[in-house]
Amino acid sequence: MTSPGSLLVADGLHKAYGPTKALDGAEFSVRPGEVVAVMGPSGSGKSTLLHCLAGIVAPDAGTITYGGRELSAMNDTERSMLRRSEFGFVFQFGQLVPELTCVENVALPLRLNGTQRRAAESTALQWMEGLEVADLAAKRPGEVSGGQGQRVAVARALVTSPRLLFADEPTGALDSLNGERVMRLLTDAARSTDAAVVLITHEARVAAYADREIVVRDGRSRDMEPVV
Ligand code: ADP
Repeated sequence: MTSPGSLLVADGLHKAYGPTKALDGAEFSVRPGEVVAVMGPSGSGKSTLLHCLAGIVAPDAGTITYGGRELSAMNDTERSMLRRSEFGFVFQFGQLVPELTCVENVALPLRLNGTQRRAAESTALQWMEGLEVADLAAKRPGEVSGGQGQRVAVARALVTSPRLLFADEPTGALDSLNGERVMRLLTDAARSTDAAVVLITHEARVAAYADREIVVRDGRSRDMEPVV
């Protein structure tokens, strides 16, 4: 599965939780700007794969190389720096900070990196415009709908211009219309900056937004035919 020009490559990943083999020889690769959907039934190992690829969980065996560097050769500080500067994350439930306004939520990763408030919120607003939620800037997460909150969460994940966006069931809590809108805006925004996307989903309709699909079954992955 390794191919020249890949941004992230994983080979022979194994991960066991007691007797459960969550990953049993999984492979993965993604190129810059490519959107890859990871499909498969519940319990097949998709989330474990994503957590390993993002350097959150260490596999028992196998290699993961990002930009030519092996994750296992980095220390914890280097891996968390990588997550903060190169990766973005979107989860099923936006996990916005309820006390902050939407624009403050989107600006938060920049503020944590030391960007001044005015500059951070100005960049945040640009991303919010792209995700069609700029009009919600002053609202708190409790005052917006699920679909709007997810678009705010996507803006927050992209505000640092990550090279790689990990999205774990980003439309799992949305109805199909809102799910499609999130997916269209997420993939458009990622493609506008040439960011790669690793998208976990069990919905074929969501996976249709990807350039390529892989299926995980019993901890093993395989490529599907290219999406047309
Ligand atoms: P999926 O995302 O496809 O639903 P997961 O990667 O979450 O699958 O889980 C794969 C298998 O590993 C499942 O049997 C799950 O119960 C098990 N598993 C995942 N994480 C843990 C954990 N932290 N502790 C124990 N078992 C786990």
